[in-house]
This record gives sequence, C-alpha cells and structure tokens, in this order.
Amino acid sequence: MLRLLIIEDDESEAELTLRSLSAAGLPCAFERVGTEGEFRSALAKTPDLILSDSNVPGFDGMAALTIAKAEHPAIPFIFVSGHMSDSAMRRARASGATDCISKSELPRLPRIVRTVFDGRDGIPKEEPAAEESPDEGSIVEKSAQYLLQRQEVLQQVDESPAAAGLSGLLRRTPPSPTALLMIESAATRERYLKVLKMADVATEIAADTPDALLRLTEKIHALLFTDRLDLISGARQLQAGSATHVVFVASPDSDARSEALRAGANDVMSGEARGEQFWAQLTVARRIVSFADSLRSAVTDNQLLSTIDELTRVGNRRYFDHQWAREVTRAVRSQRPLSLVICDIDHFKAINDQYGHAAGDAVLTEFGERLTQGLRLGEDWVARIGGEEFAVVLPETGRFQALAIAERLRERVSQSPFTSATQPLSVTASFGFCSLKRSVTNTPGLKDSLLLAADAALYDSKRSGRNRVTEGRAVG
Ligand code: GH3
Ligand code: MG
Ligand code: MG
Repeated sequence: MLRLLIIEDDESEAELTLRSLSAAGLPCAFERVGTEGEFRSALAKTPDLILSDSNVPGFDGMAALTIAKAEHPAIPFIFVSGHMSDSAMRRARASGATDCISKSELPRLPRIVRTVFDGRDGIPKEEPAAEESPDEGSIVEKSAQYLLQRQEVLQQVDESPAAAGLSGLLRRTPPSPTALLMIESAATRERYLKVLKMADVATEIAADTPDALLRLTEKIHALLFTDRLDLISGARQLQAGSATHVVFVASPDSDARSEALRAGANDVMSGEARGEQFWAQLTVARRIVSFADSLRSAVTDNQLLSTIDELTRVGNRRYFDHQWAREVTRAVRSQRPLSLVICDIDHFKAINDQYGHAAGDAVLTEFGERLTQGLRLGEDWVARIGGEEFAVVLPETGRFQALAIAERLRERVSQSPFTSATQPLSVTASFGFCSLKRSVTNTPGLKDSLLLAADAALYDSKRSGRNRVTEGRAVG
C-alpha cells in the first residue's frame, strides 16, 4: 500500500487521483493537506510519495517542494496540476520535482509512479493485465477530459464574467444539477438510486423513453443515466440535450457498449454499480453535477447583476425597459389596472455641488430605499431610469390608488432629512404618474405613451414649484 501525501484543496480531485492509481493496480492510502502547517506535519510521517497541485489557495506547490527537498529529499514529489505553464514545469523540475503532469494527463500517472519506484517497496513494475476491455479505459479518460473542459469553462466564468465570448454561454440556460434516470431494469434502477443518493446527487425518474425526452426538453439535466439506446440517440437529437452528460448503464452481459457510445453516450457504467472503475466514474458524475450547480449559480448571479443598478440596488434602466413592456402587455391582456410613477430629486445638482459627489451617491441610495420601503413587497417595483430619476411600477393599481401612493412616497422623502451622507440633508422630489385606461388595446407604442405621459406630468410638478405630485393624462 502506497502512502500518498496529496496537496490539493479539492477533496474529489484527490479522490479522483487516488482512484486512477488504485484502478491501475497501485493500492494507495492518502492524506490530503491544504496548508503549510498541515503539510509539515504530514511530511514528518514520511509518506512514500508527494503529489501536489500547483495552486492551492493559501499554500503553494513550489513552497511545498522547497520544504520537502530540505527535510526529506528522498521522497518523490510529482506535480499534478490543473494549470501550470511550461516554464513553471521547468522551474519545478530544476528545483527537484520528480515529474510534472497536468490533470488532463491523469491516466499517465500510474506509469510514472511505477517508473519512480522501479520495483521498490513492493510496487510491481508492470501493470497487471487489464481486467476491463481497453475501450473502458478510454471512457474514463474521456470523462476526465470532459470534466476538465467543464472546469475550464467555469474558471473562465469566474475570472472574467464580462469576457465578450462568454455572453452567448451565459444567455443559455445552464443544466439543472439533477440526474435523470430512465433505467428499465428495476434492480439496476434501485441500485443506482441508492448510490446516487449516497453520492449526494439529486435524481428524477422518468417512466419511459417519451417521458424522459419530454423532461429533457423542459429542463436540461446535468446527467442522464439510461439502459435504453433509443433514449440516448433521442436525447442527442434534442437541442437542449446537448449539454447533458449521458451515461449508458450496461448490464454485465450487454454487448451494446460501443453502440451506446456511437449513439452519443459520454460514458458506459456498470449496471452492477460496483468496482473501482464504477466509483471513479461516479466521482466524475458527481463533479459534473457540482459544476452544473456552480455554473447555474454563476449564471443566476450574472443575470441578477445585469438587471440591478449597482449604486442603489433597485432595477436598472435595462430592467425597466424589459419589465415595463411585460407589465403593460400583461395588464392589457388581463384587463387589469396598471400605474406608473416617475420621480426626480429636486435640485440634486446643488447637493452634488455643495456636499460632493459621494454625498450625492448616498442620497441616491437612500432615495431608492425610501421608495422601496413604501411599496407592496413582491408586487410593486422600482428602477433607476436616469441619473436621479426613478420609475415606480404599480401593477393592479388604478389612478386613485396611484395618486395616494405617489403622495405617500413624496412624504416619505420629504418628511425627515436624509441621514446617509456625512451630514443630514433635506431632500424633496417631484412626481408624475399616469394610469392605463380601461379597455385599451395593446399597441407597440403604448408603453412609451404611458412613460411620456408620466414624464410630462413630472415636469408639470417641477414647473409648478417641485415637491409635488401631478397626474398625467390617462393613456389608452
Ligand atoms: P431639478 O430639480 O430640475 O431636477 O434639478 P436637478 O439639479 O436635480 O437636475 P439636473 O438635471 O440639473 O441635475 C442632475 C444632476 O445629477 C447632474 C448629475 O451630475 C447628477 N448625477 C447624475 N447621476 C449621478 C450619480 O450617479 N451620482 C451623483 N452623485 N450625481 C449624479
Ligand atoms: Mg433633478
Ligand atoms: Mg433629472
């Protein structure tokens, strides 16, 4: 049994490494460390081999190499790294690293380890005769590569969400981190349900192929496990299905493995759900699910960020344009009332001029808060549509109610000084509103007419002395 010291911040990466060695006939035990302190105490136990990622948050592979070479120079040290430049690899070798490979070359690791030990410590020189068909080895390799591609996509998303090439990716709906199961054999299905639950992968069961295809059309699943070849080819023909990792679950006597791969499966796993290879593949599946999960939250965050005004945290102009059009369409279709209030801070330029831009920003933020707090949660909404101009959208609200709400908002602003700037500041704002006429039909210009009417009313408020509410002519 080889005792490994693995420097790696990600538990499943370490497991994947371990499984790739065990699967190649190199049984190992490992201790995973992520900090210098942990590394030093694990090193004192003189492991047989050190494997290191190059970049561990809070620690550094090169630093680990220096320590290892000073304290236990005989222990082989191999970099297994996600991203290491050629020059970094040369530096590492010059500093005494035994070897450097990238994570996508993980299948090469067992051979390197054998060469390093060269028959020492009971490590057999030769690989044992493969028990599995050579086809399956390449499947693991394929999965590992797939995994790394996914990881790279996620890293790009993390590092540069604004990268131009990524906007297309971000607009696509990311897969839900759920595994869809359509396994006809009841015993196999039960086994898979059990192990997936153990691996903390949420599952959904489809009754038959049409049901599975329907579910894949409605929602992209990160994983599909099936023993049906027709479902694999069907899933591959769906546009949405392209993002799914498809696993063919093969019964022990099945000769359909190659056929499944040709039909578009990414992997073939044993229906018996056991054995080293099965667990290695399951680790890959679990990683895919967690990537789908992070991709989904990255996209959600991004969508959210692109609709929010950074300063005031209310909706931005883009959100207003998009959402206001939808509100108008909905109100007209359902013949329900709808009102729009536009407000603009009075003499805001003077606040900037007298107290500085930062004070102006603080006032804008507090203004947004005061508006939001005066509204019905989850129904009414606020957007900043210009420098110090805000829109308040009131669904299900007719003109009398809208007047009362606009008056209330005006009071909320003027009743007490704003406290968010360095000194208390008295602020007022002018309001204009307008409401949708009953029994109007929707036209492309309707949403703009409403906005114009509210805006015109706001300027009437400005002209007639500010800090007041004016109703615009009803539109429709
Ligand atoms: P009125 O009562 O007629 O609305 O007068 P006003 O001074 O409020 O209007 P005006 O349009 O003359 O000035 C608006 C100012 O708002 C000018 C601009 O520099 C400032 N402004 C726009 N966006 C921001 C911002 O994000 N932060 C700060 N601090 N000021 C901003
Ligand atoms: Mg103003
Ligand atoms: Mg203005």
